[in-house]
Amino acid sequence: MHSSLFSLARAAGLGLALCSTLASAQPPAQQKTQVPGYFRLAVGDYEVTALFDGYNDLSPKLLKGLPPERIRALLARRAIETPGVQTAFNAFLINTGKNLILVDTGAGQCIGETAGMLTRNLKAAGYEPEQVDTIFLTHLHLDHVCGLVDGNKQPIFANATVYAAKPEADYWLDPTALSRVPEQARAFFNIAQDSTAPYVAAGRFKTFTPGESPIAEVHTTLEAGHTPGSTTYQFTSRGQSIVFIGDLVHNLAVQFEHPEVSISFDENSQNAIASRDAVFSEAASKKRWVAAAHLPFPGTGHIEALGKRFQWVPVEYGPYQRAPHVPLID
Ligand SMILES: [Zn+2]
Repeated sequence: MHSSLFSLARAAGLGLALCSTLASAQPPAQQKTQVPGYFRLAVGDYEVTALFDGYNDLSPKLLKGLPPERIRALLARRAIETPGVQTAFNAFLINTGKNLILVDTGAGQCIGETAGMLTRNLKAAGYEPEQVDTIFLTHLHLDHVCGLVDGNKQPIFANATVYAAKPEADYWLDPTALSRVPEQARAFFNIAQDSTAPYVAAGRFKTFTPGESPIAEVHTTLEAGHTPGSTTYQFTSRGQSIVFIGDLVHNLAVQFEHPEVSISFDENSQNAIASRDAVFSEAASKKRWVAAAHLPFPGTGHIEALGKRFQWVPVEYGPYQRAPHVPLID
């Protein structure tokens, strides 16, 4: 082996003089850019593309249900020792062959410079915003709806119909809500209303009762708790399923081992915990793909049940479609 490599190098004319010249040259400048924020996965005949919109840092203090030192220890096991936990904003594009569907839209212009990358990454993935015909919102928090509009509150998805569960839309979009809710909560209602407003005005915002299927290929389920109308969207093709779970989990290091830990953003923490447990258990037993809005990008993987606890099994990078005949090394 070594001698043949050596002959190859000689044949290529790689003499010692050339080697020493290369060794003294400056290395090229560091590129300091990241790969585009998309990841592709085939689920049966459906193409699923995870899109990275950005991130923010969440304080561990937001997690409720365990002593702070236990939470710190769980984070340290994953080498997280910064004051905040980097928390991704993931959205997902599904091309069924009949529809181009976006699940959630990221934080758009609402968070600052660490978010609002969805459109760029959607284009990098080979699509244009105008090609999206259907948008499913898991709920109406700002990091899921702000990406519907640009900085001038104009719609980004010019041809899409936006769907949200009726209990979710009723809660956030009720025009009288602003007079009922505490001052500090009003901004969240304003953002939900402003982001959906151009779609409502154009007759392209629709609600559904969870359990109904706005399009034939999707199965919707109410998983309330994080918000009153938090909804999961499930697609099945050729025996494979993927469920888009929105904000049923925010922290990889803590909430799989301790699914009973809630986060301050949960409107009803007991219901949020029950919803997480039900969806995790079913995804584990049915071996579904799971796509989550805030797990580390691409937020896609499987869940394994370990008694009352769970374990996240992230998707592995690889070709979009596996070769039909993969040689087995045994
Ligand atoms: Zn969220």
